Amino acid sequence: MPRDPRFDPLFAPLKIGPVTAPNRFYQVPHCTGMGYTLPQTLAGMRAIKAEGGWGVVCTEYCSIHPTSDDHPSPFASLWDQGDVANLAALADGVHRHGSLCGVELWHGGIRSANLLSRQTPIGPLSFPADKAPLQSRKMDLADIRDYRRAHRAAALRAKEADADLVYVYASHTYLLSQFLDSRLNRSIPGYSGSVENRTRIIRELIDETKEAVGDRCAVAIRIEVDAEATPGEDPDGERRAIFELLKDAPDLFDVTITDYSQEMGVSRFVKEASLEPLIAHVRSLVNKPIVSVGRFTSPETMLSQVKRGIVDLIGAARPSIADPFLPQKIAEGRPEDIRECIGCNICYASDIQGVSLRCTQNPTMGEEWRRGWHPERIESARKSERVLVVGAGPAGLEAALTLAKRGHSVMLAEARRELGGRVTLESRLPGLGEWARVRDYRQYQLSKFDSVEIFRESRLTAADIREIAPRHVLLATGSHWRRDGTGHHFPAGNASFDSPLTLTPDDLMQGKRPADKTLPVIVYDDDHYLMAAVLAELLAKEGYPVTYVTPAGVVGFWSRFTAEQARSQARLIECGVDILVSQAVETVNAKDGRAVLGCVFSGRQRDMPCGAFVPVTSREPDETLWQELQADLAANAAAGIAGIQRIGDCKAPGLIAHAVYDGHRIARLIDGDQATIEDLPEEPPFRRDRVVIPTLL
Ligand code: ADP
Ligand code: SF4
Repeated sequence: MPRDPRFDPLFAPLKIGPVTAPNRFYQVPHCTGMGYTLPQTLAGMRAIKAEGGWGVVCTEYCSIHPTSDDHPSPFASLWDQGDVANLAALADGVHRHGSLCGVELWHGGIRSANLLSRQTPIGPLSFPADKAPLQSRKMDLADIRDYRRAHRAAALRAKEADADLVYVYASHTYLLSQFLDSRLNRSIPGYSGSVENRTRIIRELIDETKEAVGDRCAVAIRIEVDAEATPGEDPDGERRAIFELLKDAPDLFDVTITDYSQEMGVSRFVKEASLEPLIAHVRSLVNKPIVSVGRFTSPETMLSQVKRGIVDLIGAARPSIADPFLPQKIAEGRPEDIRECIGCNICYASDIQGVSLRCTQNPTMGEEWRRGWHPERIESARKSERVLVVGAGPAGLEAALTLAKRGHSVMLAEARRELGGRVTLESRLPGLGEWARVRDYRQYQLSKFDSVEIFRESRLTAADIREIAPRHVLLATGSHWRRDGTGHHFPAGNASFDSPLTLTPDDLMQGKRPADKTLPVIVYDDDHYLMAAVLAELLAKEGYPVTYVTPAGVVGFWSRFTAEQARSQARLIECGVDILVSQAVETVNAKDGRAVLGCVFSGRQRDMPCGAFVPVTSREPDETLWQELQADLAANAAAGIAGIQRIGDCKAPGLIAHAVYDGHRIARLIDGDQATIEDLPEEPPFRRDRVVIPTLL
């Protein structure tokens, strides 16, 4: 279909200094967990974004010098000619699709502990670094000269690698924001004190970068509209003054805010285009094109942002991860095919944990180079087979779709009326509505295939499956939350948990509630992601007195990886939930309606009233069907079934991202009569991105 001409403004080229962006889709710098250590993985992933229509594709934070070393977090670097070669390969992949390649030159300043390089951290103040009890050395004027020289040298290396756009990176608490911050930048002659002085180094870097590479490269600045000291506000108009000072200097303003939990907010707390009210005034302050983010997935919102002049370019990190082909889908007049980001931040969690990006919605993310996976295209199976998928949660839906795309004929059976499994249930919990996109995208795509039959309200037994007699069976029957407390704290479980007072997360999601609204509900979190916090919020909002108890030190300890821990804890406080940390629920006593809690450090016990108990510890795979089928292999063979596999939570309960990935991976392996698919292959099933020593020395 041709694109709707209404969206033409999103496809108008835009001049940025000496270069021209082919359209308004701009993949802003975003971390990948790949950095300089996985250059082929990184180049493969960025090239796919360009292929999908992102007119500008940027690197992640790219260190200019060994005094800016963020190990063990994976960062990009431009320290030497090896880095130039790798960036050149990345830029080449981006250029092949007609897009521009941007490089975000980065210095961490006081934040970089330099654990690898062991260079002394530097910054405007001697101040504690992030990753070690080590302080930076205060920079003097000679250091500032050296830093400027290093920045210029890195810009020249970026140009040598054929980059089109070079950043002066003045946000996210790194070195240039430290210079802007009067709390940290106190006494460097000429660079401290007045707004002009604190902005001076940025102005110098922009001018020097332009002088060095500006003939061929655009120079962008990434900068916040507020200050670290006053998030969301610009009390003395200081930031406005900074924008005023810089208004003509760079070729592009990449505008952001200091509150990372909003900029990178999960959909549970932050919705699409949330930055607009905070950044809209920048248009009146500067004379250059503006880009900003907002987890944009709706073409209408994007169009409106550009038409109203809020931004000139639609900045995106997560939307481009969930769907690298988002621009092309709008260009081809099929926006309904966009695989919308759900705002879960599992991508961010991967990066924070130091591994390549993983995405709940896009199972091919990070697999472009090492497995050769493409987000839109997939090879047909050598032989089309009848495949039965049992269970239409995220694993079953993704498997069914992948199988259909490969040319198999698919039967998808689901016990419930609604498809989606856990996603359908979880998306009804407070703040998680967007999670339903995992179901909706796949359900819609499946509806396009004549080769897919969906059977709702069809709980299958082993006998049913043998009667259907497919060639392959994928079991995606899911899992349920345990009642018996098995988990990190009680590996053997806790017999008292299985009590008449107990309601599991599944019970609550299916609508069951404690009988008495006056008695306290204890929500016990030994899972440490978000389920317990979300259920505590749900019950508190419904008027139950709720106490959240966890053996960890904070609410939803693991959710720090998704950048939502602080907001999660704040939300419970706002909802009036009592929070007890470093405590395990040791005994639930239904008879007298009390629970005994123990301190995980001292063992000291306390006792509290308990009208209902919600254990959130771990899940039990629903594998009855698997066991029934395993019990009579001869009957399966007699029915002509060549292979039976479990996928997703019924094999190994995990994140939705794990289930989607597993469904996708296994569906790719089904081909012809292949009967067994190994979870423990003899060889790594992917290419490894590492240096191999050519000859032994
Ligand atoms: P996953 O995350 O692995 O996809 P879910 O728990 O989200 O798992 O989904 C599992 C789905 O399987 C649920 O919708 C459930 O109703 C369905 N299911 C479980 N057992 C059967 C069965 N025997 N026949 C058909 N559907 C089933
Ligand atoms: Fe969006 Fe989640 Fe994918 Fe990240 S992991 S891009 S937040 S869907």
